[in-house]
Amino acid sequence: MYELSEFLGAYERYKAPGLENKRITQAGILPLMKALPALFHTAEVGQSFEGRTLYGIRVGSGATRVLAWTQMHGDESTATRSVFDLCRFLADDSVTFSEIRNTILSRLSLFIVPMVNPDGAQRWQRENAQGIDVNRDARRGATPEGRTLQNLCRTFAPHFALNLHDQNSYYSAGASRHPATFSFQAAPPDAAGSITPTRAQAMKLIVHLNQKLQALLPQCIGRWNNDYEPRAFGEWFQAQRVATLLIESGGYPGDEERNEVRRFHFGILVEALHAIASGAYTQQKIEPYEQLPLNRENGMFDRIARRTEITVGGRTFTTDVGRRESETVMGDLDDYGSYDFIL
Ligand SMILES: [Zn+2]
Repeated sequence: MYELSEFLGAYERYKAPGLENKRITQAGILPLMKALPALFHTAEVGQSFEGRTLYGIRVGSGATRVLAWTQMHGDESTATRSVFDLCRFLADDSVTFSEIRNTILSRLSLFIVPMVNPDGAQRWQRENAQGIDVNRDARRGATPEGRTLQNLCRTFAPHFALNLHDQNSYYSAGASRHPATFSFQAAPPDAAGSITPTRAQAMKLIVHLNQKLQALLPQCIGRWNNDYEPRAFGEWFQAQRVATLLIESGGYPGDEERNEVRRFHFGILVEALHAIASGAYTQQKIEPYEQLPLNRENGMFDRIARRTEITVGGRTFTTDVGRRESETVMGDLDDYGSYDFIL
């Protein structure tokens, strides 16, 4: 067997060129789409509100169908970048990791929609060109981008869905000093939070991924809240009995452009696909999913000066001083983390 760290160690072989900065547009990925070898089939799957073509990439010949989409929010590009790394990994014909690759390609049919929201990416904004958050449009289908995903659910009929996003860097993993470098969620299919058989599959896969990631990013894995949001696509796919995982890429020390996070994300994708293909995740239980620490909003700072002396009105006292972007917070920050401290 292999460890996640092994193919992360070989990452430079697979890193897709030209995606070093997080701010990318569709023009940045079209050359990579065109350069994909014959193993991959690319197809038009829809059009954005402004008429940009939405593309799908299909690879693999297996019976288990996996749909993955990225950048439904135009300013969340990490997964778009890492799916092209994944394609290079799958296209490699050397013996390195050939067993993993062959298992994935023979047992899975993978359908990737990179950059669901190219109009938003063009403006580097969350919403599409209509100004609508596509991830709050699963019920109405008012956006062509959202309707494209719904069509794919019907026509491709996936068993698994990977809903790939970025979250801001200031989430901590629970009430700790650790950033939520990745957060996962198996979204509830209904208001009761039912654990359907397919949602249980998603939970087990998350438990599997967390187990692998803890060795590399100890305590830096969080769980997205469990609130039921019927307008979101995670909930919508889960309700269609597709085992759906939300994966949020978050902050990592010194990684403003999210290149390290992209590298880890590449590893998560390979691990997730291999676990689905091999069935390795089925041995997990669902309880550890509930034990993953919930994301805490604003749990991280860029810098914290701990127990420092401050003078206000001529009087001196000791406090922690945390700074993030333009905000300064004073007081007891013992349970809060900072990126300078980790560095
Ligand atoms: Zn998002």
